[in-house]
Amino acid sequence: MAAVAGAGAGAGEPSLPTVRPDLVELSGYHSAQVEVEVRLNTNESPIPPPEGWLEDFRAGLSDIDFNRYPDREATELRRALAESHGVRPEQVFCANGSNEILQSLLLAYGGPGRTVALFEPTYTMHRQIARTTATAVAAGRRTDDHRLDLDEVRRVTGAERPVITFLCSPNNPSGRADPLEQMEEVLALTPGLMVVDEAYGQFAPSSALELLRGDGPGAERVAVARTFSKTWSMAGMRLGYLVADPEVVRACALVALPYHLDAAKQLAGRLALRYVHEMEARVALLREERGRIAAGLAALPVDTWPSDANFILFRPVAVPAREVWSHLLDRSVLVRDCSEWPGLTGCLRVTVGLPEENDRFLAALDESLR
Ligand code: PMP
Repeated sequence: MAAVAGAGAGAGEPSLPTVRPDLVELSGYHSAQVEVEVRLNTNESPIPPPEGWLEDFRAGLSDIDFNRYPDREATELRRALAESHGVRPEQVFCANGSNEILQSLLLAYGGPGRTVALFEPTYTMHRQIARTTATAVAAGRRTDDHRLDLDEVRRVTGAERPVITFLCSPNNPSGRADPLEQMEEVLALTPGLMVVDEAYGQFAPSSALELLRGDGPGAERVAVARTFSKTWSMAGMRLGYLVADPEVVRACALVALPYHLDAAKQLAGRLALRYVHEMEARVALLREERGRIAAGLAALPVDTWPSDANFILFRPVAVPAREVWSHLLDRSVLVRDCSEWPGLTGCLRVTVGLPEENDRFLAALDESLR
């Protein structure tokens, strides 16, 4: 007998169990991984980590006891991160990328019968991980120019009483950062935890860390997720972290697998923090390049939105986005096709690359729009 949807492995012939029915229509995360010369689709840093970091890392690897489990508490890494943000180590939780941070929060605070709020268009994994953890999603809208609408925040948080309200600042894929005063207002409206995803935080004019470190009302309900995948040039290492109240950190530790953070990664993150000036130099270069791309786009028949991150959202006016995307790919330039995402009809997103990559992108885009 074939397994009946929703029944798991039933009583008849042995067979593969069916997938949880609430996951059936999920399609997973899709960003094309194809061989191209100019890869501008996943917002990584185009610049490798500093040579000095690589040397330190190679040397440090030889001190690792590879036959032993790593430090489960990631003590030294958390201490270094805490120091860099002016918080206590008990306020830091590390994981395999900030996606795993988001998943830990949802495992700990979400689940059946619980709801999280988010404001779309935003980072799609917030909704996706909520679904995989069987957490209900109350989705509000951002304004047409991708700002937070406080009336909408009030409506959604008031009606749904979410355990977590997610913000993303700078927001992916619009690139817009939410002003601190607005985050403060969202916090006041939020009955539970306000999680601010700051994957691109180093590009933003301000950070929710200021609220968390302050003594304003609700500071203990602010949690900030950050990553080494972008400005730290370490997407290949998969390392992210959370800064939050110690109680939130303990909740995340509760759902983490034993020894989830390997020794090499702990070392890599700790050493990276010695190269903060090099990281800041990369941010400065990318900001400058972002300005150049924005100026290039302004001269073309596309709509664009101002960005506080290392990517720019744009919408071709006269040529269908999918055609433009294919044309760019034919010229070995890969950007992100968001054209069928809710609230982003016809939009594409380009990551800021190296100067020559950005030139290639602008030239290919110009051609594709003719
Ligand atoms: N948050 C946002 C807003 C992102 O854009 C990304 C990467 N696409 C992530 C989190 C996840 O980053 P990672 O898991 O690599 O740390």
